[in-house]
Amino acid sequence: MKLRILTAEFMHETNTFSRIATDRQAFRNRYYLLGAEAIAERGEQNTELAGFLDIGRKYDWQIDHVLSAAAGPGGKVTSAAFDWLTDPIVAAVGEQQYDGILLGLHGAMVTDFCEDGEGELLQRLRAVAGDSIPIAITLDLHANVSRKMCALADIIVSYKTYPHIDMRETARHAGEILQRNLRKEISPRTIRIGCPMLEEINGARTDSGPMIERIRAARQWEQREDTFAVSINGGFASADITEVGPTVLITGEGDMEAHREFASSLAADIWQHRQNVVNDYLDVAAAAAIAATFTSSEGPLIIADYADNPGAGSYGDATNLLRALLDIRVSNACFGPLVDGDTVQQLSQHEPGDLVPVKLGGEVDPPLRRSCTRIAGGTGFPERWPLCRRRSHGRWPAWLIRADRGGEDRWNRGSDYNSCPADARSAAVQELRHRADIKKRDRAQINAAFPSRLRTDCGARHCL
Ligand SMILES: [Zn+2]
Repeated sequence: MKLRILTAEFMHETNTFSRIATDRQAFRNRYYLLGAEAIAERGEQNTELAGFLDIGRKYDWQIDHVLSAAAGPGGKVTSAAFDWLTDPIVAAVGEQQYDGILLGLHGAMVTDFCEDGEGELLQRLRAVAGDSIPIAITLDLHANVSRKMCALADIIVSYKTYPHIDMRETARHAGEILQRNLRKEISPRTIRIGCPMLEEINGARTDSGPMIERIRAARQWEQREDTFAVSINGGFASADITEVGPTVLITGEGDMEAHREFASSLAADIWQHRQNVVNDYLDVAAAAAIAATFTSSEGPLIIADYADNPGAGSYGDATNLLRALLDIRVSNACFGPLVDGDTVQQLSQHEPGDLVPVKLGGEVDPPLRRSCTRIAGGTGFPERWPLCRRRSHGRWPAWLIRADRGGEDRWNRGSDYNSCPADARSAAVQELRHRADIKKRDRAQINAAFPSRLRTDCGARHCL
């Protein structure tokens, strides 16, 4: 008889310091897809759902997929949004007898009524499904894994890459363990060792620094017969919660003391390397000064602004770096993306080439008041962005604009600051190919988004 498996995806990385609550609309903005719609949209992408379906096909499961929902990193998830997404998953478990539950979660969700969104979801599921049904979950590598999550989920598998490129693979891994569990070959449970720090000091990057060796060691431990998954979570420090921070998880059986010892050794390594910073951070003035003396014939200069990285739940509309670059009169530069729907609307009322005074960004910090002109339009993410390999989300209207530097050399000195409010990547790549540019984006994300172009075609030598 076919095994019947319930699946769902419900993800959010919550920055509790953000003033913008994550409500239903925030999920709709990224994706909120029910059942077959989710499978049609995400079933062949690099997603957890695709990995679940791979395993389902392999073992001839009957999969009931309830929903897939995620919002961009942001403030606490409202109770209304949380219930809206949790209720159908819990209700499905109540209506049908399932052999197993497989969930794609993030692991750093905080709601406006509790610190542990995933733990709350699992608790509600256990209340209906009971203790005997196996629950397997996948997590982002930036999860803040709670004791409650480990107690309520039998199987936990986190990504092993950052920038994240192994979503589907991670889901397959979790599905394989669940299959063996359901066939009574194994009895997995998950232990957790936490580190008394906010986050892995390099953001848990796995492409450089000490995480490379840790992941290698984790994979090696996974070769043991009694070990099914080793997960090293870097934590997510923008969450002001009790159980914030890096964790090492082992889903295994047998000699749990040996597992605990190994997990402790990895956790100790994270702690001991807490001063070993791979990334050097410059302040805004220092970065602008380097840009001002940069010679474009050497190739593009890239400045990545960690502080305003929307991928960490910040607003994506800070203007301090842009202001510093304008003040120091850096020329021949591209800046983006900058999220500012109002300015997009405002510029839509004007013809390309019109010089329009605008208030740029700065929802929290002071906005930048400049005259801008609209150059070109666009929408959404480029289609081959490898971090998500999705095509439909994030299609907001956007403009590539040119900001007036002020003073005497206004427009006759050529283009200066281009900012595409919702997504500058496509436009910026074009710009980067032809001249020295300044791209404002998290460095690790740039490496994943433009793996070779920036380094080879453009010959970038400097990355701040
Ligand atoms: Zn992450």
